[in-house]
Amino acid sequence: MTTSENLFARAQQLMPGGVNSPVRAFRSVGGVPFFVKSAHGATLHTVDDRELIDFVCTWGPAIHGHNHPKIKAAIGAALELGTSFGTPHPAEVTMAEMIVRFVPSIQKVRMCNSGTEATMTAIRLARGFTRRDKIVKFSGCYHGHSDSLLIKAGSGALTHGHPDSAGVPAAFARETIVLPFNDIAALAAAFAANPQLIAGVILEPYCGNVGFIMPDAGYLAKVRALTAQHGAVLIFDEVMTGFRIARGGVQEREQIVPDLTCLGKIIGGGLPVGALGGRAEIMDYLAPIGPVYQAGTLSGNPLAMAAGIAALRLLEDDGSDLDPYQRLDRLGRQLRDAVLAAARAKGIAVQVPQCGAMFSIFFTDTPVRDYATALTSDAALFARFFRACLDGGVYLAPSAYEAGFISTAHDGAAIARACEIMTQAIANL
Ligand SMILES: *Cc1c(COP(=O)(O)O)cnc(C)c1O
Repeated sequence: MTTSENLFARAQQLMPGGVNSPVRAFRSVGGVPFFVKSAHGATLHTVDDRELIDFVCTWGPAIHGHNHPKIKAAIGAALELGTSFGTPHPAEVTMAEMIVRFVPSIQKVRMCNSGTEATMTAIRLARGFTRRDKIVKFSGCYHGHSDSLLIKAGSGALTHGHPDSAGVPAAFARETIVLPFNDIAALAAAFAANPQLIAGVILEPYCGNVGFIMPDAGYLAKVRALTAQHGAVLIFDEVMTGFRIARGGVQEREQIVPDLTCLGKIIGGGLPVGALGGRAEIMDYLAPIGPVYQAGTLSGNPLAMAAGIAALRLLEDDGSDLDPYQRLDRLGRQLRDAVLAAARAKGIAVQVPQCGAMFSIFFTDTPVRDYATALTSDAALFARFFRACLDGGVYLAPSAYEAGFISTAHDGAAIARACEIMTQAIANL
């Protein structure tokens, strides 16, 4: 028995599924998850003394790789001053200033402890601000695990949602309308069928939780126009894409101004964090000056702020000649081209959507533009590919429907080695 197998056997006695977050259990690729004892740069070191090139990057946050010396130093300095005060402290103001400076639509910001808290608060705020109840979300978009957002599509395009989890009351699901992504007619029809009832529309502007899917040209602008026309709050969930696709997120790259933006992941530099920001007029509906309640004992935690500020500073300037986003995009294209070439040589149909430091590998000949087309990918083939990569020393997300992430620490040898391993894995499929 390996050390990982032994730990997982113990964990399964003590924790549901042996994990603290479901995807870590490897259920969609099979086998036992490996346990990690440390991580540096692009590399995970497992308890079984294996080294893996990591394309999960702790599910997005580690854009500078693991245990970056500057982030570590910032946490160490903050630690000397205390781990939590329960009062305002200076780093909260610094963090808010940075977020407002980088993210085009954000005028005011509230820090919280996870992306789930950010999206949960965003929809409450949209409802409080508009005095309407219904929320539109899109199938395939993941917004954390709060009741109103854990909803899947009903059978017809315009039916209301069904709970996507036991324990979500059907009455909550009725307030959530689930539509296909990249289908502007469906959104227009939902507004027509629910006049003055839709409080907000929430979406991942580039989807990253059903694999990586980009919107069709002009789609986001049309969503913006429709929400404005109908007085609904447009919420960009940039928990994953914020500071990853560009410093200012997808909204900067696509030049779209949402009303509210949810952030998380990268802005915590590897510590637990979330944030909600947007137009001051809407944000001021939050307590203590507005009627919409939201709070958090550890919100704006000094260690998380220190780590996050250090991570954001590195995205402005990490001492390299080339902007980090240009370097990340170069690495992303290198990986994509290697996978495409290997698949072509082997005669396997594959789609590799990629933008900057995000990518996906869908084993399908259908271009992937929404949830339904993502499901055309061959999950069994992906599981074999995943296993071959892992055996070779590359860790991809353990599911056919998750995005891959690249960090600045993947530069050079790590990416070249990963391309070789993945090419070999495809050749052997
Ligand atoms: C990860 C993620 C969340 C949830 O964030 P947690 O910190 O895991 O609660 C919400 N939305 C998107 C787009 C995410 O990628």
